Amino acid sequence: MAAVLELRDIRQTYGTGEAAVHALRGIDLAVESGEHVAIMGPSGSGKSTLMNVLGCLDVASSGTYLLEGQDVAGLDDTALARVRNRRIGFVFQSFNLIPRMTALANVELPMVYGRVRGGERRARAEAALELVGLADRADHLPNALSGGQQQRVAIARALVTDPAIVLADEPTGNLDSASTDDVLGILERLSGAGRTVVVITHEDEVAARAQRVVHIRDGLLVSDVRAGARR
Ligand code: ADP
Ligand code: MG
Repeated sequence: MAAVLELRDIRQTYGTGEAAVHALRGIDLAVESGEHVAIMGPSGSGKSTLMNVLGCLDVASSGTYLLEGQDVAGLDDTALARVRNRRIGFVFQSFNLIPRMTALANVELPMVYGRVRGGERRARAEAALELVGLADRADHLPNALSGGQQQRVAIARALVTDPAIVLADEPTGNLDSASTDDVLGILERLSGAGRTVVVITHEDEVAARAQRVVHIRDGLLVSDVRAGARR
């Protein structure tokens, strides 16, 4: 199977000279279509830096990143923005919903930037909310929803553009255990349906639900374990 994400000797350095911080020091990683991967590592190990590279939010200092076979180094800012909008769904620890917009309007937002027409926009947003079990909350504002429900809205928003890849940075960090379970169930279903899911986490429970667990430390990949037998 072809890799959806492929990093070859990716290095990221912040600052220069004496003050330089080598946040990633040569990461090689290939993730295949439909894989569900957890990335773990201590604070400061380079997880967010790696996520920013994977999400095309930052360009690495050196190395090659192939996203669906395409070298992102060849893309200008407009093309990178397009990749972020169309090919990648982002989920954050803090949900990042817009407080004054209903759940439905939040989910429609990526398609506003993507220039999908109104009627189709609504239909797709409703379908995405249905997928996360929140069709009956479409008209609610975020503050009328529980944390777990807000995160499910955020997942619906990440999915509505039909991205090949879902990148989640500590998606259950602010959730109780029942909501964590809901969110993990959704991520599992997404990978089961052929989406590639990459989740950064500190929690063993979250990693245990992934098919593959990658540990990084000091900007290097230190272990990469596939748990095929686990499910
Ligand atoms: P993690 O997410 O695993 O906690 P990060 O990727 O945030 O780790 O950070 C890795 C290293 O890079 C740390 O030493 C951090 O201080 C440094 N770092 C991260 N972002 C920047 C930045 N914008 N400027 C300078 N140093 C940074
Ligand atoms: Mg971080």
